[in-house]
Amino acid sequence: MSCANVPTYFGSMVFNDSVMRERLPKETYKALKKTMDAGKSLDLTIANVVATAMKDWAVEKGATHFTHWFQPMTGVTAEKHDSFISPCGDGKVIMEFSGKELVKGEPDASSFPSGGLRATFEARGYTAWDPTSYAFIKDGTLCIPTAFCSYGGEALDKKTPLLRSMEAINRQALRILRLFGHPVGTRVYTTVGPEQEYFLVDKAAFQKRKDLIFTGRTLFGAKPPKGQELEDHYFGTIRPRVSAFMKELDEELWKLGVLAKTKHNEVAPAQHELAPIFTTTNIATDHNQLTMEVMKRVADKHGLACLLHEKPFAGVNGSGKHNNWSISTSTGLNLLEPGDSPQENAQFLLFLSAVIKAVDEHQDLLRISVASAGNDHRLGANEAPPAIVSMFLGEDLTHVLEAIESGSTYDGQEKVEMKIGVHTLPRFARDTTDRNRTSPFAFTGNKFEFRMLGSTFSISGPNVVLNTIVADALAQFADRLETSSDFTHDLNELIRETIAEHKRIIFNGNNYSDEWVQEAQRRGLLNLKSTPEALPYFISNENIALFQRHKIFTEEEMRARYEILLEGYSKALNIEALTMLEMAKRDILPSVCAYIKDLSEAAAAKKALGGISCEVEKALLTKLSDLGNCLYHKTEALDDALLCGKHCSSDPLACAQYYRDTVFAAMQELRAVADELETLVGDRYWPFPTYTTLLFSV
Ligand code: ADP
Ligand code: MG
Repeated sequence: MSCANVPTYFGSMVFNDSVMRERLPKETYKALKKTMDAGKSLDLTIANVVATAMKDWAVEKGATHFTHWFQPMTGVTAEKHDSFISPCGDGKVIMEFSGKELVKGEPDASSFPSGGLRATFEARGYTAWDPTSYAFIKDGTLCIPTAFCSYGGEALDKKTPLLRSMEAINRQALRILRLFGHPVGTRVYTTVGPEQEYFLVDKAAFQKRKDLIFTGRTLFGAKPPKGQELEDHYFGTIRPRVSAFMKELDEELWKLGVLAKTKHNEVAPAQHELAPIFTTTNIATDHNQLTMEVMKRVADKHGLACLLHEKPFAGVNGSGKHNNWSISTSTGLNLLEPGDSPQENAQFLLFLSAVIKAVDEHQDLLRISVASAGNDHRLGANEAPPAIVSMFLGEDLTHVLEAIESGSTYDGQEKVEMKIGVHTLPRFARDTTDRNRTSPFAFTGNKFEFRMLGSTFSISGPNVVLNTIVADALAQFADRLETSSDFTHDLNELIRETIAEHKRIIFNGNNYSDEWVQEAQRRGLLNLKSTPEALPYFISNENIALFQRHKIFTEEEMRARYEILLEGYSKALNIEALTMLEMAKRDILPSVCAYIKDLSEAAAAKKALGGISCEVEKALLTKLSDLGNCLYHKTEALDDALLCGKHCSSDPLACAQYYRDTVFAAMQELRAVADELETLVGDRYWPFPTYTTLLFSV
C-alpha cells in the first residue's frame, strides 16, 4: 500500500457516514442520522435495512463474523464472535445479519466484573448498539460498538456512563448557551485528544520475563549504567525497527478511521508516544481502546512487545496519557476558546469559571478517576503530576481573573478594565498557556490537558468525571442566571464570586516541588497519595448525590464500581506478589546457587593446587551467601504476608489497605535484595534479561 494513498484507504474498514450515505436508501439514512443525532433508539424495520447493508459491505471486505464490541469494567474491550452463516436447506449457507442482531446482543455477563450488581440467577447481560460510534472491521470481524448492561438495566461497562455524561453536559451547557442567545437546535459535546505513551521492547526478551508477561511491569531489575540522564531520547531520531512499527501502526489505525497524527520518542529509553487529532469524547474513547489494541498487535508482528503499564521500569519514567479536553457546539464553536469580542469573552469566562469550580469542588473525583495500582507508582514521583489536583492557567489569564475578582484594572501587555460583557480580554499568546509541564490540569489556550491519567487507562472514567462535574457547575450557574433581571451585572457577579471562592485550586508554579505539597496543604487541597486512600471518597454522600442528579450512576452502580476498583487494586498486587515469589524461588535463587556452586568449585580447585589466593571467591561467596539467605527470608516474609491477607477478603477496603501497607512493603524488600544480587551474579547465570537488554535492545 503506497503512503501517497492515505486519503483513499483512510477509514476503509469503517462503516462511516459516507458508506452509509452510499449504501442505505435515502429514507433509512435520514432516519438513522436522526437517531444518531438525537441519541434515540432505532426502529427495528430501519435496523433491518441497516444490518443488511452493513453485512453486505463487511462481507465484500472479507468479513465472516460479527461481534458486539463492548467495554466491560476490566478496562479492556470484549468481543464474542458470531458468523453470518445461516443454513438455507440444501446443505448450503447464506450470509445473514438481522436488525435484531445489530441492535441488541445477550452475552453471558456472569464472568465480567459486576461488583455484585448482577446476581448469578440473572447472569444475562445486554449489549446495545451505540449508533454514535461507527461499526468497523477488525481481523475479519464486523465490530459493532455497544453499551453493556445487566438484565436489570444497570451499567456494567465504561461506555454507558460516558454516553450519559455526554448527555448531561449537553443539557446543562445548552441552558447557558440559550442565555447568550444561541439558536435552538445546537448540540454541545465534549472533545478529547488523548496522547498515548508506551514502551517497545524486544519480544524475545519480553517472553523471558514472567513479570512482564503476568503483570506488565518489571518486578525486579537493577538500574542499568545508563538510563535517561543524558536526555538524548526525547524527540531523538527514531530507530529503523521502531520506525517500521510506527509506520504500520499508523496505516492500521488510519484504516480504522483513527486520526493518528503525531509520533515521537519519549523521555525514557525505549519509550514513545502517539497523539491523535481530537474528536468527540465517545469516539475518542473507542479509538483509544483500539489504538492500544492495535499497538500490541502490530508490535508482535515486528518482533516487539508493546508495554502499556504505567511503570514498567523502576528508576526510569513511566507512561501516562494526556487527556486534552474541551467543549464544543455542533456549529463548530469551541467554548473554551477565549474569542475576540466582549460577548465571546464573557461566555468563555463563564465556561472557564465552571471548570475552575468543578475541579476545585471535585478534586477527589478527578483523583479517583486516575487511581490504580499501576498509576500509584507515577503520581508524585517527579515524573508525573503529584496526587494533588490543581489547575494551571498561565500568568496572563490568572492576572485577568485577579483583576475581575478585585474589580480593578489589569496591567498586562495592555491596560484593560475588566468588566465582563463590556470589555475585551487581551489576547493570550499560546506559549504562555502551555509552558508548565508539571501541572495535573493545565489550560493550553483553548482546551484543558488532564495529565494524571495512566497509560493503560480507558479514558472513559476521567471523562465521565470531567463531563459530570462541569455539567453540575453549569447547572448551578444556569439556575442563577435564568432568573436574572440584569444579565450582564449578575454574570459579572457570578464569575467574580466563583473566582474568589475557588482560586485556591489555581497554581502556576512547579507541581513537583516539596514546597507545593506544603502550600497545597495550607490551601486545604486534598492529597490522596494512594488508590486505597482515594477510593472511599467515591461513595461519599455528595458524590452519590452528584452522579444521581445528572443520571450518570445510580447509588447501586456506584457502590458496585467502588467494589470493582478496590478489588482490582488488591488483585493486581496479589498477582504481582505471586509472580515475584515464583521468580525469586524458581529462577533467582537457583541461579544464585548455581553461581555459588561454580565459585566454590573454582575456589576448591585453586586451593587444591596450593599457594593461590582465593580472596575474590571467598569475598564474593560470603556476600552471595548472605544475600541469598536474606532473599530466602524475604520470600518467606512475603509468603506470610499473602497468607495473612487471605482473611481480609470480606472487606474490600481493608483488603486494599492491607495490600498497600503490608504486601507491597514486603515486595519492595524482596526486590531490593534481588536487585543487589543481580549486580553480583555473573551475567550468564542471571535467569532473565536485565534492564540493559530490555531498554536498549530495539
Ligand atoms: P501540543 O500539546 O504539542 O501543543 P496540541 O495542543 O496541538 O499539541 O494538541 C495536543 C492534543 O490535543 C492533540 O491530540 C490535539 O488533537 C488535542 N486537541 C487540540 N485541540 C483540542 C480540542 N479543542 N479538544 C480536545 N482536544 C484537542
Ligand atoms: Mg500536549
